[in-house]
Amino acid sequence: MRVSTDKTSGSDGRLFTVVVESYGVGQQRQAERCFTVSFDRLQSLMQSIARNGGRIRVVSSGPQPAVSEAASATEAAAPPKAPSEPSPKPAEHPQAEPAPSNAKPAAPSVSHAEVPVNLYKPKDPFIGTVLDNYSLLADGAIGRVNHITFDLAGGDPQLHYVEGQSIGIIPDGTDANGKPNKLRLYSIASTRHGDDLADHTVSLCVRQLEYEKDGQTIYGVCSTFLCDIQPGAKVKITGPVGKEMLLPDDEEANIIMLATGTGIAPMRAYLRRMFDPSERESNGWHFRGKAWLIMGVPKTANLLYDDDFNRYETEYPDNFRYTKAISREQQNAKGGRMYIQDRVLEHADEIFTLIEDPKTHVYMCGLRGMEPGIDEAMTAAAAAKGITWSELRPQLKKAERWHVETY
Ligand code: FAD
Ligand code: NAP
Repeated sequence: MRVSTDKTSGSDGRLFTVVVESYGVGQQRQAERCFTVSFDRLQSLMQSIARNGGRIRVVSSGPQPAVSEAASATEAAAPPKAPSEPSPKPAEHPQAEPAPSNAKPAAPSVSHAEVPVNLYKPKDPFIGTVLDNYSLLADGAIGRVNHITFDLAGGDPQLHYVEGQSIGIIPDGTDANGKPNKLRLYSIASTRHGDDLADHTVSLCVRQLEYEKDGQTIYGVCSTFLCDIQPGAKVKITGPVGKEMLLPDDEEANIIMLATGTGIAPMRAYLRRMFDPSERESNGWHFRGKAWLIMGVPKTANLLYDDDFNRYETEYPDNFRYTKAISREQQNAKGGRMYIQDRVLEHADEIFTLIEDPKTHVYMCGLRGMEPGIDEAMTAAAAAKGITWSELRPQLKKAERWHVETY
């Protein structure tokens, strides 16, 4: 294969067009796609194509007429919007991976058929190895929350998963009755490619359960096991499970995320899939809708993955909005603790305008206690627009646009 190196736009701006067959995974697989990238991104595109099972048909110098980095670079000249004011129409971000020129029309919902479920069961779990375990909290935070990564390489079948699923962890040891500990579920916080994009790791975001009983501090069995675990340790893993929190295939969907504490785990995976540059190159999914995260934590020091989310908001001002509810530092309109439902009320009009768009999905994850508050806020917000929330919610659920996983 010969590749011409004609310069088209400056020293590092030589453009190449790559035509690929059978690119993508599952329902996203397309007969033919076409990418235009600069020379310095050609190699990572090739790796991404290989990872997505594509076959390269043609590589030629110069841009495709439809979408190219040159076109994106023109957009870069436009001044960014204020983070708190998402534009009504999503736009491609200059750093977004080039979109395929023959992108399919939006798929209406989530494809469930090819989602892996229960590849490993409690009787015969996969034995993973801890790769990393570090605190996600800043000084002065309440409690312990860790990001823990496991190596899943070497299984038959390979333990794989998609964003929005959970895995089971069976902690070592026995329970109060002397029986082997039972599994606990944890939402997966990494994308299907894993944090290192090696396609065989999984990461979790785990809070150590801690409460007082009869004057004693009690620590949760599995969450303590996980927060204390050292790299190199072997861990029994089951799953994956869950189809409630899957992302839609539609690259133009709008995604509203309501999270409390470690309920951020699936959202962290979604947001990496949408906005992490290397992940975007790997996944071939070119999100260009609107994503809005409303995140609740007790203190600023308890914010999880905050630097990443701030960066995404700076880099994708038209596509990502990040709103925080810091319950013990901020007050709601009534002078009480600021919860995510108070933020929903504050932005009721915009949220409902988004929800009226059939491309919008809402995801809620974290404390079960937040559900009534969110329901109340949605009822009030809907009423302001003349909508009856108790009627709309089941319709959204039926359309697979209202996703709840709380505990
Ligand atoms: P255990 O030792 O099992 O103790 C829990 C028990 O302690 C409770 O059943 C209750 O009997 C008792 N208890 C708890 N609190 C109190 C209290 N205040 N007062 C008195 N008794 C109390 N957790 C995460 O950190 N991250 C996640 O991403 C995550 N994802 C989940 C996803 C799903 C689908 C589900 C169902 C749960 C998820 N959880 C997550 C919760 C997780 O599964 C465990 O329940 C949690 O880690 C506690 O387990 P443990 O073994 O540490 O506690
Ligand atoms: P955390 O860091 O303690 O933060 C929880 C935040 O929610 C705090 O700001 C808290 O405020 C606030 N809050 C308390 N009651 C609320 C209410 N009724 N409505 C709205 N907000 C409320 O969180 P965490 O300990 O990680 O807790 C997350 C929970 O989600 C855990 O129980 C975990 O097991 C669960 N979880 C479930 C899933 C799942 O089902 N898929 C996934 C991940 C986590 P104050 O404390 O200041 O009142």
